[in-house]
Amino acid sequence: MERAASRAGRKAEDITLIAVSKMHPAERIRELYKAGLRHFGENRVQEWELKRSTLADLDATWHLIGHLQSNKVARALQAFQTIDSVDSIALAKRIERAKKDFNTEATEHTEKDEKNVAREMGLRVLLEVRLDPAAAKSGVRDEELPRLVEAVLQLRHLDVRGLMGIPPYVEDTEKVRPFFRHLRELRDTLRSRFGSEILPVLSMGMSHDFEVAIEEGATEIRVGTALFGERNKV
Ligand SMILES: *Cc1c(COP(=O)(O)O)cnc(C)c1O
Repeated sequence: MERAASRAGRKAEDITLIAVSKMHPAERIRELYKAGLRHFGENRVQEWELKRSTLADLDATWHLIGHLQSNKVARALQAFQTIDSVDSIALAKRIERAKKDFNTEATEHTEKDEKNVAREMGLRVLLEVRLDPAAAKSGVRDEELPRLVEAVLQLRHLDVRGLMGIPPYVEDTEKVRPFFRHLRELRDTLRSRFGSEILPVLSMGMSHDFEVAIEEGATEIRVGTALFGERNKV
């Protein structure tokens, strides 16, 4: 991370390393926590619900980085601090409603002076853009992105912080570079339309291509294999 950052004239401290712990047991997460990591990513609500019970003492930020089904939104809010894969207006509105309910409940259980804080906190979300045209499942298409941004900016219980993207897997990381650059350029275009301060976060880059992603402006990288080793194939 440091080498890639310095090549781009950036500081490694400005880049968040998210350890992607899917399909790895809770003990391994605890080991990486002890080694100093404070951000973890999981891509399934249920898997993380099962693991988190033994990790309740860790003070870390848990990212949902996988596709979220609308019937799991309320559970996702209990288990994650940020949803990095919002890809439709319908899903954003679901999360908005659930977060409103969640805050109301939280307010009922906290002391008076904490009330306003709990009520006003918006959930951090990132918008997932479909960088790989062949990946049919998740991510908003470029041409739908401005409408999604416009809609999400209206939702008071969401705090939209940036964009996330997964490029196609290509061995030669130089061939992945244009996808990362494209995500940054999409963000820059949105800034000229919606405000120069919006969407500071670019979550892009995985084990094999995070260096190129950092050179292209990633502020968060999502690394699984390079930290935990291979996942068990099922
Ligand atoms: C699994 C996963 C990663 C990590 O992939 P590695 O190649 O193991 O680093 C990153 N982002 C998302 C969305 C993932 O699902």
